[in-house]
Amino acid sequence: SQKQSTEKERERERKRERRDKKIERKRTESKRMGSKGDNVAVCNMKLERLLSMKGGKGQDSYANNSQAQAMHARSMLHLLEETLDNVHLNSSANPSPFTAVDLGCSSGANTIHIIDFIVKHISKRFDTARIDPPEFTAFFSDLPNNDFNTLFQLLPPLVSNSCMEECLAADGNRSYFVAGVPGSFYRRLFPARTIDIFHSAFSLHWLSQVPESVTDRRSAAYNRGRVFIHGAGEKIATAYKRQFQADLAEFLRARAAEVKRGGAMFLVCLGRTSVDPTDQGGAGLLFGTHFQDAWDDLVSEGLVAAEKRDGFNIPVYAPSLQDFKEVVEADGSFTIEKLVVYKGGSPLVVSEPDDASEVGRAFASSCRSVAGVLVEAHIGEELSNELFSRVERRATSHAKDVLVNLQFFHIVASLSFT
Ligand code: SAH
Repeated sequence: SQKQSTEKERERERKRERRDKKIERKRTESKRMGSKGDNVAVCNMKLERLLSMKGGKGQDSYANNSQAQAMHARSMLHLLEETLDNVHLNSSANPSPFTAVDLGCSSGANTIHIIDFIVKHISKRFDTARIDPPEFTAFFSDLPNNDFNTLFQLLPPLVSNSCMEECLAADGNRSYFVAGVPGSFYRRLFPARTIDIFHSAFSLHWLSQVPESVTDRRSAAYNRGRVFIHGAGEKIATAYKRQFQADLAEFLRARAAEVKRGGAMFLVCLGRTSVDPTDQGGAGLLFGTHFQDAWDDLVSEGLVAAEKRDGFNIPVYAPSLQDFKEVVEADGSFTIEKLVVYKGGSPLVVSEPDDASEVGRAFASSCRSVAGVLVEAHIGEELSNELFSRVERRATSHAKDVLVNLQFFHIVASLSFT
């Protein structure tokens, strides 16, 4: 029996060694991937390969659930104009194409309207300045899972060169060349000094990953019982905030290399007005109330294990102005022309506000159009149907509250590069 116990001891020793080696490997890996602070790894291949808004044109698709974003974008066009007026115009002696990029373009008409607006506004400026306009190129960029096909099908036809100028004002035509660029905006996407204007709307609140500590059962930041940080503990919120700031820092670093001197960026993302990050405002209501309760329903009905629910976390963080500003200032490459919190309004589009079931449906569709792909990857399509039918039921029975209180605020940043 002594022999047995030494054998056991040796086995334990080998186990310890294996574990230590594993931890060491993980550490080197996370160092290699550029992690900053504990548990903040900026690259996470998994989320990056997985995430997209719901593609196609169906009821729950992003293309069919982004009219509210379109409205919010329209209400900010005067701010975008200010940014565009800051962009340096190349003289005709140096005729490289004027290049605009939409980051986090998704699949829907919004990105096309924005690029149209940018091209028209800049063309007008060339006109006014009596400079021969250059050719225009637009890059639509998003993660590789994005439904680029639906987006490309929505593009209006390119007008022939000969009538580019006359057609600029005509709607239903396109006076710029396009390409799709797959990849994470938290890394380099374009050659150095090639982009005149970066635009990004409603995308930068998506983290590159759920912070590791939040899904680690042994960690103090483990998000037990919850699927978002709204109403969660302080440690969880801090982990999210660190991740957001590390991600935004990477974003700025990449863009600072790609933007031309005299170029600019117009960035809009979900934001919050509270200092406390566990109060996520509109995002909090979307992911932290009926969506949360629907997960709890699945658990109490025995359809999903509690741990399975706890392993799911929405990788979104709505920053405060301060959270955002700290990163831009620490990076230091861009000048802040404007940085404000802007009231966006409700993400729901309903024709009959008194019809509770329509409000409930709109809430569930809106939630599913942005989080559905992640939910399906976590629990499969069938359970996902169950989940969202509960979201709908719960939102229907709180329709009035949903209509009044589900309001988004956005951080709007106009940055220039000299
Ligand atoms: N700008 C569009 C769509 C916003 S939806 C509009 O105004 O309607 C948010 C988009 O951000 C999604 O398509 C999502 O895939 C994209 N996104 C999220 N994280 C990203 C990342 N790391 N890199 C590139 N795109 C990302």
